Amino acid sequence: MQEMLRKRLIDALDGCRLRTCSDAELDEQPRLDACADENEFASRVVEVGMHLALRRRLEERRSEIEAALKRLDTGCYGDCEECGEEIGLARLMANPTASLCVHCQADNERGLLRRCA
Ligand SMILES: [Zn+2]
Repeated sequence: MQEMLRKRLIDALDGCRLRTCSDAELDEQPRLDACADENEFASRVVEVGMHLALRRRLEERRSEIEAALKRLDTGCYGDCEECGEEIGLARLMANPTASLCVHCQADNERGLLRRCA
């Protein structure tokens, strides 16, 4: 069962890598100093912001996946990082990078947990 989840995590990691590769060309793409007019400038600002947000999202996703793979290696995969209870197979199938059980995740989203990054 864990092997299947591991495979899903590795596939997901590959997906992030591929998209990040194609992101490399974005680095040189939008140049704010070479805009013809205000409109072009405005649309490039939006473009740059979206690229940054997307890249950040991918990087976060990748570190979540890497952390999950590390937990698989160390044998603590599937245990809630907060309370130590089992996260549960259904939740892991839906979200293989989950590190919190449903209850702790709900607390976390309400800002009740103070977790160190
Ligand atoms: Zn928990």
